[in-house]
Amino acid sequence: MSYRTRFAPSPTGPLHLGHAYSALVAARRAEAAGGTFLLRIEDIDQSRARPEWEAQIDEDLSWLGLDWPRPEMRQSQRLPAYRAALQTLWDMGLLYPCSCTRRDIAEAASAPQEGAPQLGPDGIVYPGTCRPETAPEGPLPDAVLRLDMARALERACRHQPLFFTETGKGPNGESGARPIARRRMIEKVGDVVLARQGMGTSYHLSVVVDDAEQQITEVVRGQDLFEATPIHVLLQRLLGLPVPLYHHHRLIRDEAGKRLAKRDDARAIRLYRDEGKSPADILKMIGLARSA
Ligand code: GLU
Repeated sequence: MSYRTRFAPSPTGPLHLGHAYSALVAARRAEAAGGTFLLRIEDIDQSRARPEWEAQIDEDLSWLGLDWPRPEMRQSQRLPAYRAALQTLWDMGLLYPCSCTRRDIAEAASAPQEGAPQLGPDGIVYPGTCRPETAPEGPLPDAVLRLDMARALERACRHQPLFFTETGKGPNGESGARPIARRRMIEKVGDVVLARQGMGTSYHLSVVVDDAEQQITEVVRGQDLFEATPIHVLLQRLLGLPVPLYHHHRLIRDEAGKRLAKRDDARAIRLYRDEGKSPADILKMIGLARSA
Protein backbone atom coordinates (compact mmCIF):
# COMPACT_ATOMS: atom_id res chain seq x y z
CA MET A 1 0.00 0.00 0.00
CA SER A 2 1.44 3.39 -0.85
CA TYR A 3 2.31 5.85 1.88
CA ARG A 4 -0.46 8.24 2.96
CA THR A 5 -0.40 10.74 5.78
CA ARG A 6 -2.39 13.81 6.78
CA PHE A 7 -2.28 17.09 8.63
CA ALA A 8 -5.49 17.54 10.61
CA PRO A 9 -5.89 21.06 12.06
CA SER A 10 -8.99 22.39 13.77
CA PRO A 11 -10.08 25.74 12.29
CA THR A 12 -10.46 27.38 15.69
CA GLY A 13 -7.57 29.84 15.51
CA PRO A 14 -4.53 30.82 13.48
CA LEU A 15 -1.88 28.29 12.49
CA HIS A 16 1.35 28.92 14.39
CA LEU A 17 4.90 27.66 14.07
CA GLY A 18 3.99 24.34 15.73
CA HIS A 19 1.38 23.66 13.06
CA ALA A 20 3.82 24.60 10.30
CA TYR A 21 6.31 22.11 11.74
CA SER A 22 3.74 19.32 11.91
CA ALA A 23 2.43 19.90 8.38
CA LEU A 24 5.94 20.10 6.91
CA VAL A 25 7.20 16.97 8.67
CA ALA A 26 4.15 15.06 7.37
CA ALA A 27 4.48 16.43 3.83
CA ARG A 28 8.19 15.62 3.72
CA ARG A 29 7.69 12.08 4.96
CA ALA A 30 5.09 11.62 2.22
CA GLU A 31 7.43 13.09 -0.37
CA ALA A 32 10.34 10.88 0.74
CA ALA A 33 8.13 7.80 0.50
CA GLY A 34 6.66 8.79 -2.87
CA GLY A 35 3.26 8.91 -1.17
CA THR A 36 0.43 11.35 -0.55
CA PHE A 37 -0.01 14.19 1.93
CA LEU A 38 -3.63 15.01 2.78
CA LEU A 39 -5.29 17.83 4.66
CA ARG A 40 -8.27 17.14 6.91
CA ILE A 41 -10.30 19.89 8.53
CA GLU A 42 -11.26 18.83 12.07
CA ASP A 43 -14.29 21.03 12.58
CA ILE A 44 -16.56 18.85 14.73
CA ASP A 45 -16.70 21.58 17.35
CA GLN A 46 -18.97 23.87 15.38
CA SER A 47 -19.21 26.28 18.29
CA ARG A 48 -15.53 27.16 17.80
CA ALA A 49 -14.78 26.44 14.12
CA ARG A 50 -14.87 29.47 11.77
CA PRO A 51 -14.74 29.61 7.96
CA GLU A 52 -12.20 32.46 8.22
CA TRP A 53 -9.78 30.22 10.09
CA GLU A 54 -10.30 27.50 7.54
CA ALA A 55 -9.49 29.89 4.69
CA GLN A 56 -6.43 31.01 6.59
CA ILE A 57 -5.22 27.40 6.97
CA ASP A 58 -5.41 26.93 3.21
CA GLU A 59 -3.62 30.20 2.57
CA ASP A 60 -0.83 29.64 5.11
CA LEU A 61 -0.11 26.06 4.06
CA SER A 62 -0.09 27.00 0.37
CA TRP A 63 2.26 29.90 1.14
CA LEU A 64 4.59 27.42 2.87
CA GLY A 65 4.70 25.51 -0.41
CA LEU A 66 2.41 22.63 0.54
CA ASP A 67 -0.16 21.07 -1.76
CA TRP A 68 -2.74 18.33 -1.26
CA PRO A 69 -5.63 16.69 -3.13
CA ARG A 70 -8.85 18.73 -3.01
CA PRO A 71 -11.54 18.92 -1.84
CA GLU A 72 -10.13 18.06 1.55
CA MET A 73 -12.08 15.95 4.03
CA ARG A 74 -14.16 18.02 6.45
CA GLN A 75 -15.31 16.33 9.64
CA SER A 76 -18.52 18.34 9.92
CA GLN A 77 -19.73 16.47 6.80
CA ARG A 78 -18.96 13.05 8.21
CA LEU A 79 -21.49 12.77 11.04
CA PRO A 80 -23.30 9.73 9.52
CA ALA A 81 -19.99 7.81 9.46
CA TYR A 82 -19.38 8.64 13.14
CA ARG A 83 -22.93 7.63 14.01
CA ALA A 84 -22.43 4.29 12.26
CA ALA A 85 -19.25 3.66 14.29
CA LEU A 86 -21.08 4.57 17.53
CA GLN A 87 -23.90 2.20 16.55
CA THR A 88 -21.38 -0.64 16.12
CA LEU A 89 -19.89 -0.01 19.56
CA TRP A 90 -23.36 0.37 21.09
CA ASP A 91 -24.48 -2.94 19.58
CA MET A 92 -21.39 -4.56 21.13
CA GLY A 93 -22.58 -3.27 24.53
CA LEU A 94 -19.49 -1.09 25.02
CA LEU A 95 -21.10 2.37 25.35
CA TYR A 96 -23.27 3.97 27.99
CA PRO A 97 -24.93 7.39 28.31
CA CYS A 98 -23.44 9.79 30.84
CA SER A 99 -25.17 12.79 32.37
CA CYS A 100 -22.34 13.98 34.63
CA THR A 101 -21.19 17.58 34.44
CA ARG A 102 -17.51 18.47 34.73
CA ARG A 103 -18.23 19.50 38.28
CA ASP A 104 -19.90 16.17 39.14
CA ILE A 105 -16.81 14.39 37.83
CA ALA A 106 -14.38 16.59 39.73
CA GLU A 107 -16.38 16.10 42.94
CA ALA A 108 -16.79 12.35 42.58
CA ALA A 109 -13.13 11.90 41.65
CA SER A 110 -11.94 13.80 44.69
CA ALA A 111 -14.15 11.93 47.18
CA PRO A 112 -11.96 10.65 50.06
CA GLN A 113 -12.37 6.96 49.15
CA GLU A 114 -11.12 7.64 45.61
CA GLY A 115 -7.63 8.83 46.59
CA ALA A 116 -5.97 11.55 44.51
CA PRO A 117 -7.83 12.11 41.19
CA GLN A 118 -5.98 10.54 38.24
CA LEU A 119 -5.28 12.73 35.24
CA GLY A 120 -5.51 11.04 31.84
CA PRO A 121 -5.22 12.31 28.26
CA ASP A 122 -8.73 13.82 28.51
CA GLY A 123 -8.40 15.28 32.01
CA ILE A 124 -9.70 13.65 35.19
CA VAL A 125 -10.19 9.90 34.78
CA TYR A 126 -13.93 9.30 34.93
CA PRO A 127 -14.88 7.79 38.31
CA GLY A 128 -17.61 5.64 36.74
CA THR A 129 -20.68 7.34 38.25
CA CYS A 130 -22.99 6.55 35.29
CA ARG A 131 -21.41 3.22 34.29
CA PRO A 132 -24.15 0.53 34.33
CA GLU A 133 -23.70 -3.01 35.68
CA THR A 134 -24.89 -4.51 32.43
CA ALA A 135 -24.76 -3.06 28.92
CA PRO A 136 -27.73 -0.75 28.20
CA GLU A 137 -30.28 -1.92 25.66
CA GLY A 138 -32.54 -0.19 23.15
CA PRO A 139 -31.72 2.21 20.33
CA LEU A 140 -28.53 4.29 20.29
CA PRO A 141 -29.42 7.39 22.32
CA ASP A 142 -28.61 10.93 21.25
CA ALA A 143 -26.59 11.62 24.41
CA VAL A 144 -23.10 11.94 25.80
CA LEU A 145 -21.69 8.43 25.38
CA ARG A 146 -18.75 6.89 27.18
CA LEU A 147 -16.75 3.81 26.32
CA ASP A 148 -16.76 1.18 29.07
CA MET A 149 -12.99 0.81 29.04
CA ALA A 150 -12.71 -2.46 31.00
CA ARG A 151 -15.35 -4.15 28.86
CA ALA A 152 -13.87 -2.74 25.65
CA LEU A 153 -10.40 -4.05 26.52
CA GLU A 154 -11.83 -7.42 27.51
CA ARG A 155 -13.33 -7.74 24.06
CA ALA A 156 -10.47 -6.21 22.08
CA CYS A 157 -7.69 -8.23 23.73
CA ARG A 158 -9.45 -11.59 23.64
CA HIS A 159 -7.20 -13.02 20.93
CA GLN A 160 -4.25 -10.70 20.68
CA PRO A 161 -2.69 -8.03 22.89
CA LEU A 162 -2.92 -4.45 21.68
CA PHE A 163 0.10 -2.54 20.45
CA PHE A 164 1.17 0.03 17.91
CA THR A 165 4.41 0.88 16.15
CA GLU A 166 6.03 4.23 16.84
CA THR A 167 8.26 5.43 14.01
CA GLY A 168 9.06 8.73 15.74
CA LYS A 169 9.45 9.27 19.46
CA GLY A 170 7.09 9.61 22.38
CA PRO A 171 7.68 12.28 25.06
CA ASN A 172 10.03 9.91 26.92
CA GLY A 173 11.84 8.62 23.86
CA GLU A 174 9.39 5.73 23.30
CA SER A 175 9.87 4.10 19.90
CA GLY A 176 9.29 0.83 18.04
CA ALA A 177 6.62 -1.66 19.13
CA ARG A 178 4.60 -0.12 21.97
CA PRO A 179 2.51 -2.61 23.95
CA ILE A 180 -0.72 -1.22 25.40
CA ALA A 181 -1.22 -2.35 29.00
CA ARG A 182 -4.84 -3.02 29.96
CA ARG A 183 -4.40 -2.06 33.56
CA ARG A 184 -2.86 1.26 32.65
CA MET A 185 -5.71 1.98 30.23
CA ILE A 186 -8.29 1.32 32.93
CA GLU A 187 -6.50 3.30 35.65
CA LYS A 188 -4.96 6.16 33.69
CA VAL A 189 -7.35 6.65 30.77
CA GLY A 190 -10.71 5.28 31.88
CA ASP A 191 -14.11 5.56 30.24
CA VAL A 192 -13.42 8.17 27.57
CA VAL A 193 -16.22 10.17 25.96
CA LEU A 194 -16.91 9.07 22.36
CA ALA A 195 -19.95 11.28 21.71
CA ARG A 196 -19.82 14.76 23.18
CA GLN A 197 -22.71 17.05 24.06
CA GLY A 198 -24.13 18.64 20.91
CA MET A 199 -21.46 17.10 18.65
CA GLY A 200 -22.58 13.51 18.10
CA THR A 201 -18.93 12.46 18.09
CA SER A 202 -15.59 13.21 19.73
CA TYR A 203 -12.02 13.80 18.69
CA HIS A 204 -11.04 10.16 19.41
CA LEU A 205 -13.88 8.61 17.44
CA SER A 206 -13.66 10.94 14.42
CA VAL A 207 -9.91 10.70 14.05
CA VAL A 208 -10.04 6.89 14.00
CA VAL A 209 -12.94 6.67 11.55
CA ASP A 210 -11.36 9.26 9.25
CA ASP A 211 -7.82 7.91 9.30
CA ALA A 212 -9.30 4.61 8.10
CA GLU A 213 -11.49 6.30 5.48
CA GLN A 214 -8.50 8.23 4.13
CA GLN A 215 -6.37 5.05 4.18
CA ILE A 216 -3.70 6.71 6.27
CA THR A 217 -0.65 4.46 6.57
CA GLU A 218 1.27 6.70 9.01
CA VAL A 219 -0.18 9.29 11.38
CA VAL A 220 2.28 12.17 11.84
CA ARG A 221 1.47 14.46 14.78
CA GLY A 222 2.90 16.10 17.89
CA GLN A 223 4.02 14.27 21.02
CA ASP A 224 1.17 15.91 22.91
CA LEU A 225 -1.09 13.28 21.30
CA PHE A 226 1.10 10.28 22.14
CA GLU A 227 -1.05 9.36 25.17
CA ALA A 228 -4.19 9.43 23.02
CA THR A 229 -2.78 6.83 20.62
CA PRO A 230 -3.65 3.72 22.71
CA ILE A 231 -7.28 4.91 22.73
CA HIS A 232 -7.18 5.16 18.94
CA VAL A 233 -5.61 1.72 18.55
CA LEU A 234 -8.26 0.20 20.83
CA LEU A 235 -11.05 1.78 18.76
CA GLN A 236 -9.43 0.53 15.54
CA ARG A 237 -9.39 -3.03 16.91
CA LEU A 238 -13.02 -2.82 18.04
CA LEU A 239 -14.20 -1.35 14.75
CA GLY A 240 -12.15 -3.74 12.61
CA LEU A 241 -10.05 -0.92 11.12
CA PRO A 242 -6.37 -1.09 10.14
CA VAL A 243 -3.79 0.29 12.58
CA PRO A 244 -1.49 2.81 10.88
CA LEU A 245 2.07 3.50 11.97
CA TYR A 246 2.40 6.44 14.36
CA HIS A 247 5.07 9.09 14.09
CA HIS A 248 4.98 11.53 16.99
CA HIS A 249 7.31 14.48 16.59
CA ARG A 250 8.83 17.01 18.96
CA LEU A 251 6.85 20.11 19.89
CA ILE A 252 7.85 23.62 18.99
CA ARG A 253 8.20 25.59 22.20
CA ASP A 254 8.37 29.26 23.07
CA GLU A 255 11.41 30.86 24.73
CA ALA A 256 10.14 29.75 28.15
CA GLY A 257 9.97 26.14 26.95
CA LYS A 258 6.17 26.05 26.90
CA ARG A 259 4.53 24.37 23.91
CA LEU A 260 2.70 26.69 21.55
CA ALA A 261 -1.08 26.73 21.70
CA LYS A 262 -3.72 28.34 19.51
CA ARG A 263 -3.68 31.40 21.73
CA ASP A 264 -0.02 31.96 20.89
CA ASP A 265 -1.06 34.38 18.19
CA ALA A 266 2.33 36.03 18.42
CA ARG A 267 3.72 33.04 16.58
CA ALA A 268 0.91 32.93 14.02
CA ILE A 269 2.24 32.30 10.51
CA ARG A 270 0.01 35.12 9.30
CA LEU A 271 1.86 37.64 11.49
CA TYR A 272 5.26 36.52 10.27
CA ARG A 273 3.97 36.83 6.70
CA ASP A 274 2.72 40.35 7.41
CA GLU A 275 6.11 41.23 8.85
CA GLY A 276 7.68 40.28 5.53
CA LYS A 277 9.18 36.93 6.52
CA SER A 278 9.55 34.34 3.73
CA PRO A 279 8.65 30.64 3.83
CA ALA A 280 12.42 29.96 3.99
CA ASP A 281 12.61 32.13 7.15
CA ILE A 282 9.86 30.04 8.75
CA LEU A 283 11.63 26.80 7.85
CA LYS A 284 14.78 28.13 9.46
CA MET A 285 12.90 29.14 12.62
CA ILE A 286 11.52 25.62 13.09
CA GLY A 287 14.74 23.83 12.19
CA LEU A 288 13.55 22.47 8.86
CA ALA A 289 15.62 24.52 6.40
CA ARG A 290 16.73 22.33 3.54
CA SER A 291 20.47 22.47 3.10
CA ALA A 292 21.29 24.12 -0.20
N1 GLU B 1 -7.08 18.10 15.23
C1 GLU B 1 -6.04 17.78 16.15
C2 GLU B 1 -5.37 19.06 16.61
O1 GLU B 1 -5.54 20.10 15.99
C3 GLU B 1 -4.97 16.87 15.56
C4 GLU B 1 -5.46 15.51 15.33
C5 GLU B 1 -4.43 14.45 15.00
O2 GLU B 1 -3.42 14.76 14.34
O3 GLU B 1 -4.68 13.30 15.33
O4 GLU B 1 -4.65 19.01 17.59
